[in-house]
Amino acid sequence: MSFIPEFTIMPSTQCQTLATLSGWGRCPIVQGREIKSDDLCTASLDANLSRGLGRSYGDSSLPGRASDTVVNTTLADRLLGFDERSGILRAEAGVSLAQLNRVFLPRKWFVPVTPGTQFVTLGGAIASDVHGKNHHIDGCFGNHVLSIKLRVADGRILDCSPGIEAELFWATVGGMGLTGHILEATVQMRAIASPWIWGESERIAGLDAMIDGLRLAATQWPMTVGWIDCLARGQHLGRGILMKGRWAEVSEAPRQAAKAKGRLRVPFALPAFALNRASMKAFNFLYYRKHYQPLVQGIVDPQSFFYPLDKLDNWNLIYGRRGFTQYQCVLPYGNDNGPARRFLERFVAEGGMGFLCVIKDCGSEGRGMLSFPKSGISIAIDFPVQGAETQRFVNRLNELVAAEGGRIYLAKDTFTLAEHFRAMEPRLEAFNRVRRLWDPTGKFRSAQSIRLMGDAA
Ligand SMILES: Cc1cc2nc3c(=O)[nH]c(=O)nc-3n(C[C@H](O)[C@H](O)[C@H](O)COP(=O)(O)OP(=O)(O)OC[C@H]3O[C@@H](n4cnc5c(N)ncnc54)[C@H](O)[C@@H]3O)c2cc1C
Repeated sequence: MSFIPEFTIMPSTQCQTLATLSGWGRCPIVQGREIKSDDLCTASLDANLSRGLGRSYGDSSLPGRASDTVVNTTLADRLLGFDERSGILRAEAGVSLAQLNRVFLPRKWFVPVTPGTQFVTLGGAIASDVHGKNHHIDGCFGNHVLSIKLRVADGRILDCSPGIEAELFWATVGGMGLTGHILEATVQMRAIASPWIWGESERIAGLDAMIDGLRLAATQWPMTVGWIDCLARGQHLGRGILMKGRWAEVSEAPRQAAKAKGRLRVPFALPAFALNRASMKAFNFLYYRKHYQPLVQGIVDPQSFFYPLDKLDNWNLIYGRRGFTQYQCVLPYGNDNGPARRFLERFVAEGGMGFLCVIKDCGSEGRGMLSFPKSGISIAIDFPVQGAETQRFVNRLNELVAAEGGRIYLAKDTFTLAEHFRAMEPRLEAFNRVRRLWDPTGKFRSAQSIRLMGDAA
């Protein structure tokens, strides 16, 4: 049996405005033309980039020039079909994972891969080839995309899949919108036993125990992730909390799906002095100490397990007017967890002030030509932007990551220099070859592709 959930189809709406745009980190803030429309076929015709919910942190969803046009896809959010036998979903690119969760979780289906926020669009999840807590088993989102409809530079709309126009498909998966506009996607959803998670969290004393714990947990649990206190030094370096989870069996889970909870809201950008070394140290210390029992087990609702930050609307405002960035890299395991240790030591030694730090073991590299994850340890740290000092700080982290054989995640990046990106990304040449084949005049570009990939400004 198949169903298409009921949606009111409104007449097509379209508005084009001169807009001031930023990513989730609120830095940089740029001007450009933005078309918001529920008719992506028309809106995408002359546009230079698509943009979803703007949850990428830096400049990957921002226009390259003030005269460039970005299509905001969020009005194009229709579910076009769902087969309850196979779990195959076809939907427009602007539908958010939050909308999919609302419809599908109570029916015991879930998206195959989810990032740490559900406020991302289907198109954005494919273009960044997002990864989640199950990366060690299921890889990235793109592994579960059966096909896409893509508006390419010469105006055609093509069906692409791992079997049709495969090279274009894998350049688009993780290609940050630079191969064209994804209009629709067909995705394999995951059947789940119940809409609840059985979770376990463990307090961990240091980095070796954290990485060893993640790698052991990966053999036993489908979902794992760690939080670390990134201001702790010496023997405490890398201490934190290791979280594991699996979908709960019917016999373990409450009868009803969890009810949606109200969300708190940060009303305005906090003053810069609110976030300083002392307040961040206190937060990290208290978060670690709050987990006073060595091991906690039980049923958790999926929203708390997958999306703890989504409980607070506009939490990006706590970093103040200058905004913030997230540095996310993946490093090879190396001997004795050396690369991850040297990275954290440098972060602390350079005076890094991290508020949130997430650590995760990644599975093997996927087929997306620029997809981020590869086998090793991923570390993601949020910190406030402090002018030129942030640029110097990111440069020093990038030098270390390139020397260790790691790479950064484009969806989080704001400050990487083109030379550092090239040093980390031997796949760039192959990606650019496919781009130029399909877009010889360089129609598709973003502020990020101008900064990192040599696109014309
Ligand atoms: C709190 C938080 C937690 C996060 N956790 C994770 C995580 O665990 N794992 C992870 O992988 N990521 C994570 N992210 C990053 C986020 O998943 C990605 O940045 C995602 O791409 C955002 O989707 P979006 O719809 O907001 O896209 P946008 O930010 O609007 O755009 C991102 C990129 O996708 C392109 N794009 C968007 N729509 C289309 C389209 N229709 N066609 C072509 N290109 C398109 C844009 O051009 C841009 O390059 C997190 C972000 C936040 C804020």
